[in-house]
Amino acid sequence: MSVNVASQPHRRLNPLTGEWVLVSPHRTQRPWQGQQEERSASKRPEYDESCYLCPGNTRAGGQKNFDFDSTFVFTNDYSALLPDSGANDISDDSLFTAVPESGICRIICFSPRHDLSVPHMELDDVASVIGVWIAEYEKFKAMPEITYAQIFENKGQIMGCSNPHPHCQIWASSSVPYVVSLEQKKQADYFKQHSKPMLVEYAARELEKRERVVHQNEHFVVLVPYWAVWPFETMVLPKRHCTAIDQFTDDEVVAFADAYKTLTLIYDHVFDCEFPYTAGIHQAPTTNDNHDAWQFHMHFYPPLLRSATVKKFMVGYEMLAAPQREITAESAAEILRQAEARMSQCGDNQ
Ligand SMILES: [Zn+2]
Ligand SMILES: [Zn+2]
Repeated sequence: MSVNVASQPHRRLNPLTGEWVLVSPHRTQRPWQGQQEERSASKRPEYDESCYLCPGNTRAGGQKNFDFDSTFVFTNDYSALLPDSGANDISDDSLFTAVPESGICRIICFSPRHDLSVPHMELDDVASVIGVWIAEYEKFKAMPEITYAQIFENKGQIMGCSNPHPHCQIWASSSVPYVVSLEQKKQADYFKQHSKPMLVEYAARELEKRERVVHQNEHFVVLVPYWAVWPFETMVLPKRHCTAIDQFTDDEVVAFADAYKTLTLIYDHVFDCEFPYTAGIHQAPTTNDNHDAWQFHMHFYPPLLRSATVKKFMVGYEMLAAPQREITAESAAEILRQAEARMSQCGDNQ
């Protein structure tokens, strides 16, 4: 007997991690008394003298930023990871295990403009940011002490972003982080069983079905994954097999910039606010091993649930048992497509 996924409680499997999400579409009508988040200030200045990421300003560590006019990359003054200290003590007690971890943390300012987030940047300028990601990925590939480079963007105060100047981070580490290694294992298992990369097959199937596709261009598709946990969670996937960002052609860089810019612009139209999220790229480790099972992808995890101020909480059952959602992935995709239609109608594609 097949489950009616539009109306009946059911579980969906995330094939990338092996985790299940409980979907409870029948609960969308229940009364809601949610927390009202403070709406973030709508207009920022182009330059803020107190911002440690604006051009020419002095950072807390004492260094002065260049007077940059495009992107700007620097090593975080307060890095979570530090270059290899040479320590190799391993505590392998099964109950008190610890191993050394080293790495490099960089910050990338998207542009000199304090007020200009990705949806409002020129397409070429977003492509320049992606060019920096490629250059950084290649640098880390040349470092034998690094095995993985995690590129991510935290946007909005409710995601814990401490500085509104549009920027992202790269944490490059000596080991492959847990979530990435989980996805690596699942993709390798799938590849072994089916002789093709899981996410290449997945994107092709979603493009046939179309119900969770939000946006696409010649080279990329933006979709709400079948197993999405966050209300408006999305993934950006290439249409061809690319294990990592350094395989993109020039056209693909621009197409990826278009997907990034368009998706974030759609997000801003869902609740008519600057839509907060954590977004990040998963791709092949920077080592020389065979990474054929990998498919490059970018995750977007926005916390908002039903307005600019009401966010989803991961508490109770979700902390103790499994994540749960009420609005289905298919309904979320429909809401995002409607936001894109409104955006096009009012000519707001900037
Ligand atoms: Zn700034
Ligand atoms: Zn992933």
